[in-house]
Amino acid sequence: MITHGDTPPTRTHPPGRYGGPPRKGPTTITPGRTPADRRAALQRAARLRQLPTTDHDLIRLAQEPLFPRWLQQVTATGGCAHPVHLTGHTTTHDPATGEVLHHYDTRCEPHERLLLRCRNRRAAVCPPCSRLHAGDTFHLVRAGLVGGKTVPPTVRDHPRLFVTLTAPSFGPVHRTTSDGKPCRPRRRGGECEHGCPLGCSVVHTANGPMAGSPLCPGCYDYPAHVLWHAHTGRLWKAFTDNLYHHLATLTGRTRTGLRRTLRISYAKIAEYQQRGAVHVHAVVRLDGADGPDSAAPRWASAEMLTTAVRSAAAAVRLHTPYSAALGEYELTWGAQLDARPLRAFDTPDALSDDAVAAYVAKYVTKSATETAGGLDYRIISRDDIQTATVPHHTRALMMTCWRLGGQPEYAHLRLRAWAHTLGYRGHILTKSRTYSTSYGALRAERAEHRHDGETVRGELSTATDASWRYAGSGHSLGAALLAAGIAEDLATNRELAREALAGDRGRPAG
Ligand SMILES: [Zn+2]
Ligand SMILES: [Zn+2]
Ligand SMILES: [Zn+2]
Repeated sequence: MITHGDTPPTRTHPPGRYGGPPRKGPTTITPGRTPADRRAALQRAARLRQLPTTDHDLIRLAQEPLFPRWLQQVTATGGCAHPVHLTGHTTTHDPATGEVLHHYDTRCEPHERLLLRCRNRRAAVCPPCSRLHAGDTFHLVRAGLVGGKTVPPTVRDHPRLFVTLTAPSFGPVHRTTSDGKPCRPRRRGGECEHGCPLGCSVVHTANGPMAGSPLCPGCYDYPAHVLWHAHTGRLWKAFTDNLYHHLATLTGRTRTGLRRTLRISYAKIAEYQQRGAVHVHAVVRLDGADGPDSAAPRWASAEMLTTAVRSAAAAVRLHTPYSAALGEYELTWGAQLDARPLRAFDTPDALSDDAVAAYVAKYVTKSATETAGGLDYRIISRDDIQTATVPHHTRALMMTCWRLGGQPEYAHLRLRAWAHTLGYRGHILTKSRTYSTSYGALRAERAEHRHDGETVRGELSTATDASWRYAGSGHSLGAALLAAGIAEDLATNRELAREALAGDRGRPAG
């Protein structure tokens, strides 16, 4: 149910004033009754014209007749930095009687528009929406670990691992060390065929310009790097297929026999490393044949799963299509592999459920830009790569995507369309169907608790009569400032509520 302003607008507003560029000058100079009044009004108008554009825009906004309702809308979007503007209506009828149960129309809204969240997952694009997305990710991952949101709490007793699969080496890169040791010490020195030193005695800082870049760009296998990236999804699929196979071999069962008693579910995220290659972190869980509701077979254990994970990852071999220029590459996972059992509470050798869920949630808000110097937008031409402000190594990876993307044998990998993510074309978070709930379900649940514009999206499918149109996006200068303030207030309120809750929990009972 949507509630909206009780007072219908007395006049229509020109579209785009909240979203578009600020108008020139204040529009409300009421003619004074005396020449002195008029002079004062003109002086006030002149003073306003002196104000910076943002202040001007703020004053204009506050003078709007439906300003309070606009504030409500922005609050409903959580102070989203780039809201989507919609115009339209939704009418819900009783199917039996035809009676109108509910009617909502944006004609009653400020500038006849409804603002909706942009829902961008990246903190660099929209801080409030990325916070919401991180929260949803936390609940999505956590539900698969400890239950909740349609997942039974018994999943806690299923064998569960936190697995990290890495990319193989494509050539030596400058690296940061945790113990303050030099990058790549080499007593005998020596140079590669391109005249670059084979060692490096520098101690690099994590955000330093060298970290992650190759010792010799000539020796670095750029085609292998981007082709590996483009196959990450298939490498993962091959890994999970192998996992069934290796578990069957370990327990002396047939593959079909195993699949009748056991199911593997997972949630995984891709994380960009300094060298611009993704690592895959995944929660892998063993369920019974009916998914999370059924217990895994008695013989299945976290130790057995760990053994199977190691052998299954090592056995993955894929081949790239043959190219006259490059031949055929064999693709594998990197030798570095981490698999740790998950426990409900922190123990020295295991990770806690909450720590893993929080870790995953933190990563989904990052983009290729923040970690590996990729770009947030698609690359349209070779010039975009040349002019992009990215490190040399990233540019070389993008150029390789562009070059290989033009070769017919690699056309299906769409390397040019994914040059901004360095060839990687998967989602940041993916999960198997039975792992836990979905982002959609979490949003629907949230919408049920609200009585504002956010519910419109959910109602679009169920309404008998609805018509919606995209009318723009974003904020004007002043509106953006107000939205950021609202987002900050909401974040502070949440923080205070959390502290109060933690304080209550910490207090001894009775
Ligand atoms: Zn947003
Ligand atoms: Zn170095
Ligand atoms: Zn070299």
